[in-house]
Amino acid sequence: MAAFAFLLPEEATLSKDKAIWPPIDPVSAGLKGRCPRCGEGRLFSGFLAVGKGCSNCGLDYSFADSGDGPAVFVILVIGFIVVGLALWMEVSYGPPLWLHFILWIPLAVALCLVALRLFKGVLLTQQYAKRAAEGRLDGSQ
Ligand SMILES: [Zn+2]
Repeated sequence: MAAFAFLLPEEATLSKDKAIWPPIDPVSAGLKGRCPRCGEGRLFSGFLAVGKGCSNCGLDYSFADSGDGPAVFVILVIGFIVVGLALWMEVSYGPPLWLHFILWIPLAVALCLVALRLFKGVLLTQQYAKRAAEGRLDGSQ
């Protein structure tokens, strides 16, 4: 009697990944900008540009699509911090308007750039770890 095993491509990839690559912490790998599979290769080819693939394990990064996710989180988190600080400073010290511009605009830009890379890395490694992909109807590939 022959035994048949049917694996969807995702399941075959998943079991192969677990056999070859030990699981890594996606948050730690994302914050460091490392490959979501091996945790060693670089995820980014530029400051925010995602590379073609991992130089260490050869994982193709074509799946990586974080969309607007990192920007939304950055707007919410950094906006809360900077606006909160600006309001606190205005209420506490009442400084002139030019001081607000000099302080908060460069701080907001710098924090957003740093946070955007961190959030993008974490979201992409989470996308790989959770096998998140665009929804499809059966048979419409
Ligand atoms: Zn890798």
